[in-house]
Amino acid sequence: MTAVDLSQLPENRLFIGGEWVPSETGKSIAVTNPATEKPLAEVADAGIADGLRALDAAHAAQTAWAATAPMRRADILYSVNRTLMDRRDEFAALIVAEMGKPWAEAQGEVDYGAGFFRWFAESAGRLHLEGQFGVEPNGQYRIAVSKRPVGPCLLITPWNFPLAMGARKIAPALAAGCTVVLKPAEQTPLTSLLLARVLEDSGVPAGVVNVITTSNSPDVIAEMMHDPRARKISFTGSTEVGKALLRQAAENVMNTSMELGGNAPVIIFEDADLDEAVAGAMVAKLRNGGESCIAANRIYVQRSVAADFVRRFSDKMEATRSGDGTDPASELGPLIDGRQLAKVASLVSDAVHKGAVCAVGGAPVDGPGYFYQPTVLLNVPENAQIRTEEIFGPVAAIYEFDSEEEVIREANNTPYGLASYVFTRDLRRALRVADALDAGMTGINRGVVSNPSAPFGGTKASGSGREGGTEGLEAYLETKYTGIQI
Ligand code: NAD
Repeated sequence: MTAVDLSQLPENRLFIGGEWVPSETGKSIAVTNPATEKPLAEVADAGIADGLRALDAAHAAQTAWAATAPMRRADILYSVNRTLMDRRDEFAALIVAEMGKPWAEAQGEVDYGAGFFRWFAESAGRLHLEGQFGVEPNGQYRIAVSKRPVGPCLLITPWNFPLAMGARKIAPALAAGCTVVLKPAEQTPLTSLLLARVLEDSGVPAGVVNVITTSNSPDVIAEMMHDPRARKISFTGSTEVGKALLRQAAENVMNTSMELGGNAPVIIFEDADLDEAVAGAMVAKLRNGGESCIAANRIYVQRSVAADFVRRFSDKMEATRSGDGTDPASELGPLIDGRQLAKVASLVSDAVHKGAVCAVGGAPVDGPGYFYQPTVLLNVPENAQIRTEEIFGPVAAIYEFDSEEEVIREANNTPYGLASYVFTRDLRRALRVADALDAGMTGINRGVVSNPSAPFGGTKASGSGREGGTEGLEAYLETKYTGIQI
């Protein structure tokens, strides 16, 4: 694997208006490697004036970028895709260092993130061929319907996929002709800054993409949202913060996309291929160390195969090798920070205290790094917090069920509705259950659903809007109707 190279990142700088500038606060934020707890780098800590400066730049660049030929925008996005793939290992090393995921998963994230630039490059070229031109029903005049960019966008991303979450927003925004201000999570800002470098080198004009890092997101973002020049907010993060941003967005009636928390059920029927179900549940649970909004939060197994499933799944969990992602043999990285480690530990101890049985793991790992053991919980009682809260860690809670009706009711008994997974060999049952699950996404006989060409998003408290697919571009477009009298 490649060593981390920070030489491409100007220290303590924000990327505003095509320039790398210091913050008005003069302060910085320390970035820590979660596997070693050692400092990795410092980034600039933006204040309110920096946020508004970034919005000035995005606003100033908006008209020219919207008027840039779609094919030119597509060419730039293709170039970003190629550069990311050429520099795959350099990005993967940075993701491992600041976020902690295993090496192969970090490489996978680069492929996934780069995929959004390719997918939306393909859409950008065709964008303005779409629309309608016709005569209104009384034959009096003509109707033309076309698409135009929403305008300057604020993009806010979490720490769990430092490249992909930004890519999933920047690529469609640029394809649509919008300019953006990206604010990555303070735990993992370095990958976004390196991405800004690549965008700059790929010919993105000054001001079209701006990146600010801050330890004061609530105030910096609130001031930007207060400014009517910001036309859209696309947020990925917790439901709690998403709700607060929706309230703020109401003030100027901003366009919003919200990718929020999840509580994904995995449902394994007795007729499933059990090897496939164990492998699918493992990846749905342990991908990204469980720190994923689509991670398996509740594993439901039909009673007749439950003992067999639990044995096989527990063996695999127990054999999972934790370690620093720089070790290619590591399959499970640390949690992002001490706060997340304490949260996972408290969910497990609450469940055990209330009567759950810990079949595997159940404790933090000693030594440097925020590691938690791969853990399997059985007999989790009704009142345990882990039944309803997003775990965001390598802890699998397994429940047994008898009937299809019962498991559908249980699976839907949550305020969330992001991902869900069904394992069965019966196609009719698979489709019936997928239809009955109130979730934005269902994987049938597979534990991974993320794909740049598919619409990613949730129902209920998991958010609104979709990223990726054709819907991902629509999110950055307004529909314009022109009535023409001739
Ligand atoms: P978080 O909500 O704490 O933070 C997300 C981002 O919002 C960060 O950049 C943070 O700095 C910023 N932020 C925090 N408070 C803010 C405020 N008041 N105003 C503006 N910005 C603010 O979430 P997190 O802990 O970083 O991420 C984990 C959460 O993200 C989980 O709930 C997970 O399910 C969710 N998530 C959802 C998706 C999805 O696509 N639905 C994908 C990844 C993560």
